[in-house]
Amino acid sequence: MLPGDVLLSTLCRPMLTITQDTTDPPGIHDTHIRMCDAYLYEIHGLGPYKGCFEIVSEVIAPYGIAPEDIPDPFNGFLNLQYDCDTKAWIAREPVTKPGDYIEFVAEMDCLIAISNCPEDRLTDSSGKKCTPLRVQVFA
Ligand SMILES: [Zn+2]
Repeated sequence: MLPGDVLLSTLCRPMLTITQDTTDPPGIHDTHIRMCDAYLYEIHGLGPYKGCFEIVSEVIAPYGIAPEDIPDPFNGFLNLQYDCDTKAWIAREPVTKPGDYIEFVAEMDCLIAISNCPEDRLTDSSGKKCTPLRVQVFA
């Protein structure tokens, strides 16, 4: 997804337009995989642990949105690519550097919940770590 591309709602209405993406190359984001959840951490032996699904579910619950009504996520900066040889989705090294950002313009009123994915708990042995995420909203 590149600047000028539009994210659509589940009813195919323009929701957010990407106006800037400072990564090099730009457009390395994912919309293929769903959020991590407590079950993922459980099957990997990490015990009870909240994933993005539980985190987002809790913060949007006061708005009357049920967990099962949460749409699939926009996974900003996730470099997920399909490997035709292994026929599997592979998370590649991120292309981001400190200070990179993506900017959107809202095309409708939006309720946006963000989780800075805690999935690095599953990849500690690889040395990959999630880094802080800064969000700014301009009215
Ligand atoms: Zn996650």
